[in-house]
Amino acid sequence: MNCIFCKIAKKEIPAKVVYEDDVCFAFLDLSQVTDGHTLVIPKEHASNYLEVDDEVLAHMSIVTKKLAGIIKEAFHASGVNILSNAGEVAGQTVMHFHMHIIPRYDTSDGIEINFKQREDELDLDKILSTIKQ
Ligand code: AMP
Ligand code: ZN
Repeated sequence: MNCIFCKIAKKEIPAKVVYEDDVCFAFLDLSQVTDGHTLVIPKEHASNYLEVDDEVLAHMSIVTKKLAGIIKEAFHASGVNILSNAGEVAGQTVMHFHMHIIPRYDTSDGIEINFKQREDELDLDKILSTIKQ
């Protein structure tokens, strides 16, 4: 499979490695949306958050939490966004599961996450019943 993150995990192409163990691999995101922007990936290919093996995800969650704390402290960041895009419409461009760790410095630091208030009438019961079905 021609997957760039598989190649990074197998060290076939270089990356700035932050952390590595048997299950996962963390390296600097090339784009550095903010200083310290790091990606955590499983070594074994999975296309996104919904597809990754549960045990691998559990392990990666712990690693991501630890790294996020270390990175936040190292850069004296004020906060951190920990997120994963699943699917093209959600902004996923590399189809190998990855968690983003993005330290936050201030509101104009290069990342904007904006939950817009909807104008239309909401039927929360209908939405809830769709989930529960
Ligand atoms: P996403 O849009 O959530 O799929 O994020 C993919 C991320 O991978 C982007 O932030 C890219 O900057 C990053 N990226 C792509 N290729 C590389 C690479 N070779 N090394 C490090 N980061 C990369
Ligand atoms: Zn892959």
